[in-house]
Amino acid sequence: MIEDLRRVYFTEKEIQTKVKEAAHWLDERFCGKNPLAIGVLKGSVMFFCDLVRAMQTPVQIDFMTASSYGASATSSGTPALAADLSASVEGRDVILAEDIVDSGNTLVAIRDFLTKRGAKSVTVVTLLEKPARRTVNVKPDYFCFEAEDEFIVGYGLDYNQQYRTLPYLAILKREVYEH
Ligand code: 5GP
Ligand code: MG
Repeated sequence: MIEDLRRVYFTEKEIQTKVKEAAHWLDERFCGKNPLAIGVLKGSVMFFCDLVRAMQTPVQIDFMTASSYGASATSSGTPALAADLSASVEGRDVILAEDIVDSGNTLVAIRDFLTKRGAKSVTVVTLLEKPARRTVNVKPDYFCFEAEDEFIVGYGLDYNQQYRTLPYLAILKREVYEH
């Protein structure tokens, strides 16, 4: 166990089970449709790749970037969005894969962006849901795990760009980010 981590939160096996369930949920919803799956970089990268590979429904994939953190553990409000979407979202059923819905600001910003670009529907699937910290009225359509108010790293999630490649999710020690 890495020194700055307090404990494993969800194991690799638990994650893989939940991701398969999420893929199954999406398959039931999108069977026979032609959805566009969009991953929010960088945090959702592991989740996104496992999710789309576990789906039976053929999907096209694309990516957006949202960043609000920098080297801190608290969101700075409105995130900076960068969309380099090669596929047009106009008229498409979009599956949006997020790492964590925390305050909800990022989700609202991305959803509004996709709606303005003419998406027919936006279905939000997140790895982690932190409802206790919500400041805007928004909910993911599906979440794999509900998380406590802790700072979580691993499986794509970082603290100051570290820990993204861990295959499990872990809680970061508070003394690492509280100075
Ligand atoms: P929101 O806009 O909902 O406040 O923030 C969502 C984004 O903040 C997530 O997509 C994620 O990138 C980041 N975030 C929120 N909570 C955590 C956490 O516990 N760990 C990490 N690594 N990032 C988090
Ligand atoms: Mg994010």
